[in-house]
Amino acid sequence: MMTSNEIRKAFLDYFASKDHHVVPSAPMVIKNDPTLMFTNAGMNQFKDIFLGNQQRQWPRATDSQKCLRVSGKHNDLEEVGHDTYHHTMFEMLGNWSFGDYFKKEAIAYGWEFLTEVMKINKDWLYVTVFGGDEKEGLEMDMEAYDFWKAHISEDRILKGSKKDNFWEMGDQGPCGPCSEIHVDIRPAEEKAKIPGKDLVNKDNPQVIEIWNLVFMQFNRKADGTLEPLKAKHIDTGMGFERLCMVMQGKRSNYDTDVFQPLIQEIAHKAGKTYGQNEEADIAMRVCADHLRAVSFSIADGQLPSNVKAGYVIRRILRRAVRYGYTFLGFTEPFMNTLVPTLVGQMGHQFPELLKQQELIQRIILEEEQAFLRTLAGGIKRFEEYASKCSGKVVDGAFAFELFDTYGFPIDLTQLMASEKGLTVDMEGFNRGLAEQKERSRGAAKVESDDWVELLPGVEEEFVGYDTLEADVRIARYRKVKAKDREFYQLVFDRTPFYGESGGQTGDTGELRVKSYELRVNNTKKENGLIVHIVDTLPEDLTATFHAEVDARRRMAIGCNHSATHLMHYALRQVLGEHVEQKGSSVDAERLRFDFSHFAKMSQEEIRDVEHRVNEMIRQCLPLEEHRAMPIAEAQKLGAMALFGEKYGDKVRVVKYGPSIEFCGGTHVQNTGMIGSFRIVSEGAVAAGMRRIEAITAQAATDYADRQQEQLAALTDMFKGTKDLAASIAKLQEENAALKASVEQMQREKAAGMARAIADKLQACPTLVDRMDSDVTALKDALMALRAERPDMAVVLGSVTAGKPALLIVLGENRVAAGLNAGQMVRTLGKEIQGGGGGQPHFATAGGKNPDGLDKALNVAKELIAH
Ligand code: ATP
Ligand code: MG
Repeated sequence: MMTSNEIRKAFLDYFASKDHHVVPSAPMVIKNDPTLMFTNAGMNQFKDIFLGNQQRQWPRATDSQKCLRVSGKHNDLEEVGHDTYHHTMFEMLGNWSFGDYFKKEAIAYGWEFLTEVMKINKDWLYVTVFGGDEKEGLEMDMEAYDFWKAHISEDRILKGSKKDNFWEMGDQGPCGPCSEIHVDIRPAEEKAKIPGKDLVNKDNPQVIEIWNLVFMQFNRKADGTLEPLKAKHIDTGMGFERLCMVMQGKRSNYDTDVFQPLIQEIAHKAGKTYGQNEEADIAMRVCADHLRAVSFSIADGQLPSNVKAGYVIRRILRRAVRYGYTFLGFTEPFMNTLVPTLVGQMGHQFPELLKQQELIQRIILEEEQAFLRTLAGGIKRFEEYASKCSGKVVDGAFAFELFDTYGFPIDLTQLMASEKGLTVDMEGFNRGLAEQKERSRGAAKVESDDWVELLPGVEEEFVGYDTLEADVRIARYRKVKAKDREFYQLVFDRTPFYGESGGQTGDTGELRVKSYELRVNNTKKENGLIVHIVDTLPEDLTATFHAEVDARRRMAIGCNHSATHLMHYALRQVLGEHVEQKGSSVDAERLRFDFSHFAKMSQEEIRDVEHRVNEMIRQCLPLEEHRAMPIAEAQKLGAMALFGEKYGDKVRVVKYGPSIEFCGGTHVQNTGMIGSFRIVSEGAVAAGMRRIEAITAQAATDYADRQQEQLAALTDMFKGTKDLAASIAKLQEENAALKASVEQMQREKAAGMARAIADKLQACPTLVDRMDSDVTALKDALMALRAERPDMAVVLGSVTAGKPALLIVLGENRVAAGLNAGQMVRTLGKEIQGGGGGQPHFATAGGKNPDGLDKALNVAKELIAH
């Protein structure tokens, strides 16, 4: 039996033997694409080639791509665990032709690999082809049908609908018919009863799609029409875990060697046996699957958080914790303890896991701890709700609140409800869910027109490393509507503007032609294009513009970016080699840097890092830049690469003395230009993750000036002192002593008043009086009197510092006789334009209108008399 690692290798070897270039998996977490958070198919990393924005590096490629299908167009989350062949994170094996071979070869390769190399029984296989679509005016894909006929009998070639057999990248862009390969792994008796072809695309867990061959031949335009693509492409995707299942003679992906080590470990920890109880089995599958998704995301730099991609990851982890809690009896954090097993099994294939094992484990542990507390809170909320619930139905809005706030999947709420003999209003729940989806879609809604090409085929050149000005022409433009804003995107033939990427903000500046001037508000990178954002279109679109980057701003950004490299280097020296960059953001004002480290930095460490960076600034280290260094050479040089970044064969290397990094950003020519560097904050972002914010150049000088001014002002206030800190400490001490003696005096005064009140009460148990001192200070004394005087009823009003207040204290007998201080104070409070509250025997109120106080006391007299 082939192991999963052998199967992956056989696939890549087969396509390498057919002249395919083997490329590494791109990161699973996507950083610079507003339309996609996670890689959900092998083709994502080649999108720019298919869109025609980027030249192909090779005509053919093959890879195994880490994918995550938990949001957007592909969301399999709710299936995972319940079925045996959908995962959140999985590997997609692919072969690619960029305008090279097309349907004939793609079909022949697919068939040969499955039946000759993998030796899968031909009688188990079925294929589908696109059957045409009247609305689109598309014919059936006869080409594919005829090519398949050469390999497989016609009764195994099935026609599919647009839904299953027409692939689209999105609302716009490349698309085309596809052919799926399905495999029937049912036992012979069952095959005899129902032919496999009746079960294709019918959600049978043992007649499943394993491979999809996409034939990209059209471009979908913004108005919905299709136009033929000039260069036709092949994009295929095969589920690696599904292939392993077939090859290892299993009926479930979870029974393969990809998942069994994790499943067994979970079963062992839970004290259960896998395969004995469906509920527990589902939970084990969920935990094993989700552990992979979460660990790989963290390794790619995406931590659980409350927003966007981070929130998706948080929800996946919570789902696993919740299944473990409910069905496997894990009431303590357990997912983190599975990390070593996962790393042991996949760490050699994916070194990003191995190197970051400790970080991954700590972050998962912290998330689990926090969620287990929330979970307990949610269960309590549910219990309270259920005990008060009058009918038999749990309100849909409440179920949605549990889902949204506490991360309770609806099936958990249903389960808890049924344990109490209740059902859940699913319609209401689904409404809440739909509304939420609508909200998030509305917020992110962006509509783009088609690009209008003015210089077709021109590839944009970035000249901004060498110059801040250039004469440029518009190569293409389009209008974009986002929320209620409209703007235009321009792409030039060449540009000095840096498009936001790698954590560095985009350039701003001007476009000029004669007396015409147009502001470039921002520059972004989108699908491999450098896109300039402007409010209006220039009148003459074909003019040659003089493009000029805002130089002061670019300089400030460069200082902050270069300082980030120096600080990264210094941090590794001061704290150790475990420091890895986890995120960075650089703009004209400041730099922000997230990195792995397990303790708060001490003041000494912070100063040490600052000193080292400033030392490197003073050394005036010149920028050594290698624009296109082969990646192996760069690694040999000791350049620091980042996990979760995608690098091509050639990389840009930025070097200042001992600091060497892979980087595409813009930098200062010489570290001396940074002038000065200052760390302004250091704190935790998550378990094992720290964040530093720092400033450079003029901002650092301004910062030092402000501190200097503050100090000068303070020194001025303590004229003549030699030791400012000691003087302030002395002042604090004196202040504390004064406070204590004032409080003592107040207490004595209150005691005196209390004695006076006690005397008055001797004469009459009811007292309504005005006493312009802090009445609440009398509270303790009056409460003490209550014990001796069950017949007392005291209402005091006071005005201090212009503010009226009321205090009511009633003895037991008066309460028993029907007086209620809490109710009284609400009535009286109105007279002084205020509010308050309390209990039947004691209440206070504060207000705004001191003139109403006497009226309030008169009302009080009446209320007490009744
Ligand atoms: P299915 O209908 O089974 O969900 P799909 O149509 O969504 O598959 P494609 O988008 O064509 O699948 O992806 C290509 C291949 O990737 C599939 O043939 C399948 O083998 C695999 N695949 C898709 N989704 C998953 C998943 N969630 N987990 C594991 N493998 C998957
Ligand atoms: Mg699917």
